[in-house]
Amino acid sequence: MKKIATSNYSIWIGEKALSKLNLTAYSKVAILVDENTKRDCLSKLPRIENSIIIKIPVGEEIKNISTCNFIWGKLTEYEFDRYSVVINLGGGVIGDMGGFCASTYKRGIDFINIPTTLLAMADSSIGGKLAVDFNNIKNQIGLFANPKSVIIDPDFLHTLPENEMISGFAEIVKHALILDKNLWENIHKNHFKKLDWEEIIGISIELKNKIILNDPNEMGERKKLNFGHTFGHAIESYYLEKNTPILHGEAIFMGIVLEAEFSILSNSEKNEIKNYILSNFALPYTPPKLELLKFLKNDKKNKNQKINFSLLNGIGNCTIDNLINENEL
Ligand code: NAD
Repeated sequence: MKKIATSNYSIWIGEKALSKLNLTAYSKVAILVDENTKRDCLSKLPRIENSIIIKIPVGEEIKNISTCNFIWGKLTEYEFDRYSVVINLGGGVIGDMGGFCASTYKRGIDFINIPTTLLAMADSSIGGKLAVDFNNIKNQIGLFANPKSVIIDPDFLHTLPENEMISGFAEIVKHALILDKNLWENIHKNHFKKLDWEEIIGISIELKNKIILNDPNEMGERKKLNFGHTFGHAIESYYLEKNTPILHGEAIFMGIVLEAEFSILSNSEKNEIKNYILSNFALPYTPPKLELLKFLKNDKKNKNQKINFSLLNGIGNCTIDNLINENEL
């Protein structure tokens, strides 16, 4: 088992990581699950005294304030006090929304992340970004707050469907492209299914953690993590509005391909990235840029009516605050 130290909490990774779940200080425990993590993951947790299960439906469509109302309602109904804790057992949807509900309930109670998707293990469970979607705009309402701890047991991945593995992998590919050329070489020279997940998740988290420690509130360097996400979020919102949501990572893979085009890369680097993504993963149709404009204009990072991109300047390097006019897209 490996421990990664971060600002004020610990991240545990490995097959014995669940032994680090320490709940002795808490008056009550809520375990937030969705239908799938209730079925496939809940039985892997140790027995927890004084706990309730809060089960919500599956998917990005329910990452909104009405589901928060349901969660806050359960915490209130079971008289959770300020010494209680929420365990988020699931993917990024559970983590983002459970963390948001915990951090706002009674002005904030503790939460612990036990991520069960590759995306949540390698990325979303750390860094303290918590949010829900609003009027089909991704992550429009939220805040920054850190979990009490993050416990990553890659064993949960055994029940994760392959399309969800691919979706999570997009964030790992992003970490490699913006920060670590060696990781990119390892990834793109080996078959996706042959990768050592515990090792790759560890590297991915270390990379993100280093950035977050330097810039927890995204005033500078942390913006690098947005590479692929400006177009990616617009594409995700586009599909959400059409009531045919696609996976977050699928949108991010498409966003990476589009944003690599604007990046300072040689043609062969651009082709290397594009060919790797498009030949290995079957992605949905990429909407025309014009149809994405209304979502791009609403992006939280925009400044002076310009769209703000984080772009590569070489593989393993990233520049931030590249402001681009909508008519240049
Ligand atoms: P998700 O939470 O919807 O999980 C994907 C699917 O896998 C769901 O159907 C879930 O029920 C199922 N599942 C989860 N664990 C399982 C398991 N072990 N076995 C079988 N099925 C399992 O989606 P996600 O891809 O994990 O996360 C996407 C969300 O994360 C998006 O809302 C995105 O905005 C957010 N995100 C947040 C951050 C951040 O920094 N906070 C970063 C990246 C993405």
